[in-house]
Amino acid sequence: MILVVLDHDGNKLRKASLEALTRARKLSEALGEGVAGVLLAEGQAPVEEARGYVETLYVAELGPYTAEKWAAGILEAAKKAGVKAIVAPSSRQSRTYMGRVAYALRAGLLEDTLESWVEGGEVYATRYAYLNRVTQKVKTAPPVVLTVKPNTTPLAEPLGQAGQVVALPIPPVPTVEVLERVQEEKKGVSLTEADVVVTGGRGMGGPEAFKQVEELAALLGGAVGATRAVVDAGWRPYSEQVGQTGKTVQPSLYIALGVSGAVQHLAGMNKSKYIVAVNKDPEAPIFKHADYGIVGDVHQVLPALIEAVKKL
Ligand code: FAD
Repeated sequence: MILVVLDHDGNKLRKASLEALTRARKLSEALGEGVAGVLLAEGQAPVEEARGYVETLYVAELGPYTAEKWAAGILEAAKKAGVKAIVAPSSRQSRTYMGRVAYALRAGLLEDTLESWVEGGEVYATRYAYLNRVTQKVKTAPPVVLTVKPNTTPLAEPLGQAGQVVALPIPPVPTVEVLERVQEEKKGVSLTEADVVVTGGRGMGGPEAFKQVEELAALLGGAVGATRAVVDAGWRPYSEQVGQTGKTVQPSLYIALGVSGAVQHLAGMNKSKYIVAVNKDPEAPIFKHADYGIVGDVHQVLPALIEAVKKL
């Protein structure tokens, strides 16, 4: 069986889960295996939606997230299903539990893959390395634990029939105890799923100026991003950081405002389809990566951009 970890927000499967399903189906065809899903929940979970994509859906209620519990849930489903491969969307959380799963199964771990396929009974994949500057080809024999980099793969369609739902009893797992969790207020579209990202850098000058970044993002139906300099200064939350130590985005349109274009920032956004940069320094490195560049002061260019978009 190929087991897919179906990431969700409590109400809906995340787009990245539909990408993981597409990859799982491809492996299933090549390895002659069926596709099962595992839905790990801390409360509400989109069981009805998820069962439309798989033959069998394993569901476990685990309470507040910890990597140990999530790994235990996946391993329990893997034991029941008998797996040749486990496929999950790549995320900050999957990095904490998929390594544990791979170790427990003594399986090869292929993380953040762009493509995956089977050749001569082995699973091959490509992934970026060295800040997205090279693409590596890697392989391992099944069983394999594989994560799918978001925005790399077409979304799976439902099967047209509902799979069987199996409740997974999870034995108590030694784990850290979550004492308190402060949920960040979510506004608008998710950064990693947005088709338009408007990022402000240190050149914005301060947190107040981000009101206009938010306005432009909202007008374009996009999400706000930030550089690490901005996050470190406390102008914006870490959840908005794009780059090597932040999120990787691949929107159709990436607008960088007052962003210098450091390699660590580029690592998180240089696969965007169109990059537009606004910077007062014509030598700023971001212009080497931009499809369109405006040399100017963001405090003049941004209001003009907002007015122009309002007229569209
Ligand atoms: P700056 O480099 O200070 O650039 C500001 C830019 O704004 C300049 O180009 C300037 O010309 C322009 N500007 C100034 N005023 C105006 C104005 N009025 N109008 C127009 N333009 C103006 N960075 C990330 O972003 N993400 C990461 O994940 C990340 N991870 C890192 C990991 C490591 C290990 C390290 C060492 C660094 C990392 N960094 C990361 C930091 C990175 O190296 C840069 O320091 C950072 O990206 C710079 O942010 P910035 O472009 O906002 O600021």
